[in-house]
Amino acid sequence: MSDINDDPPGFALSCIHTTGELPMSEQTYLDALSRLKALGAHAGVSGDVIDLLRHPHALLTASLPVRMDDGSTRYFTGYRCRYNDILGPTKGGVRFHPNVNSGEVQALALWMTIKCAVVGIPFGGAKGGVTVDPKSLSRMELERLTRAYMRAMVDFIGPDTDIPAPDVYTNARIMGWMQDEYETIRRGKWPAVVTGKPIALGGSEGREEATGRGAFLCIEALRRQHQREAKDIRVAVQGFGNAGYNVARLLQHAGYRIVALSDSHGGIYSEAGFDIHSVWQDKQQSRELHGVYCDGSVCHSVEHEKITNEQLLALDVDLLIPAAMENVITDNNVISIRAPWIVEVANGPITSSAEATLERRGTLIVPDVLANAGGVLVSYFEWVQNRAGYPWTLEQVNTRLQERIENAFQAIWDRHIHEERSLRNAAYTIALLRIEEALVIHGSKGYFQEK
Ligand code: NAD
Repeated sequence: MSDINDDPPGFALSCIHTTGELPMSEQTYLDALSRLKALGAHAGVSGDVIDLLRHPHALLTASLPVRMDDGSTRYFTGYRCRYNDILGPTKGGVRFHPNVNSGEVQALALWMTIKCAVVGIPFGGAKGGVTVDPKSLSRMELERLTRAYMRAMVDFIGPDTDIPAPDVYTNARIMGWMQDEYETIRRGKWPAVVTGKPIALGGSEGREEATGRGAFLCIEALRRQHQREAKDIRVAVQGFGNAGYNVARLLQHAGYRIVALSDSHGGIYSEAGFDIHSVWQDKQQSRELHGVYCDGSVCHSVEHEKITNEQLLALDVDLLIPAAMENVITDNNVISIRAPWIVEVANGPITSSAEATLERRGTLIVPDVLANAGGVLVSYFEWVQNRAGYPWTLEQVNTRLQERIENAFQAIWDRHIHEERSLRNAAYTIALLRIEEALVIHGSKGYFQEK
């Protein structure tokens, strides 16, 4: 067995085509790599596995010229990272957000690699993004940007190589534009090129709510392990978008009390609990005006007490669900976190050093690579349906999702209890063992040392 080497990690090793300098200081990716190294040491896999995963396979950085409605041209930067494909074609969302950079994309792609292995689907990990404030664009500008992204990535993406999906500020409509652009260039029908697309274009029943449903199933499994009643569990949800809304809705329906919600504008609090559907409807009211995004906020629900996002994170609730962005619980605010359970619906919401503090305090954290895996599971189901040309019913999708999530949860929980590992440690162990097995079986990797 070789040791994990201590060289600085590589950023974006094989750049197929790059138009700019790759920043070397993105903290999120460095943190993801150091967490991988620490958890890899506990997993008992060869150091070669960890070295391989410290080196993303390829990153494409592209300049995206977009004609604006006023006739001018603006240039945006787009990224796509195919991190590792040992288990299958790479899979991961595309994010439109002002903070997107190469480091964030690589961190998210690494987590996708681990996540697909945790839930045992035949995909590697990828991620993409565009550095843009999408709400500042008109609907037509947004469509032209989306098509420019696909044109730039068309040789990097494909149903057998790399399959995008929605992420922050991208949705089914945007996936539909991506598919259309790909099919126009390739002159054919390729529904399996993206997932999370509209049902009319080959999307899957149940995909829209899948991330929230997967998280809900994890929370239910956790509740059963602790033999608690749903009605006794008070919940705060940070990020009331696709994932946050759906998990909150399903939890409320099952009897949990959702006492706090927030979005990028701020938060609201009600000790009596919210009717999630009404808050969502209030927030959506302006959507018809803008077509793609709503300008509404949970803060527009006038009858509730207003709180900040920082106050929401610090609430004395039973369950805290960060469902917005990464790095929201850090060394700066970890001291204020009081919830005994945290379920990471967002990717990477807790830095590794803040996690160490929480663990010392006994906080139970259901990690992102399990808690939000419902999205990629139903994306996998969508890809299978597209390739078979045979759509499934909502009931088939939800039954198969439940079976996969509950099995993954149980396997992680068993290691957590019997091997006294954190849930994240147990999840990474399962993923890294699967990746190691695939590497060994590939057989032709002369440089790879078996244990
Ligand atoms: P979304 O765009 O639908 O919603 C994001 C929400 O977060 C919005 O309500 C936005 O207002 C809010 N937000 C943004 N910045 C915030 C801040 N600083 N504080 C509080 N709220 C803020 O995105 P989504 O698809 O729900 O994704 C949310 C998280 O879930 C991301 O981390 C994403 O990577 C993860 N995730 C999503 C999917 C999926 O299928 N959509 C799958 C797996 C993981």
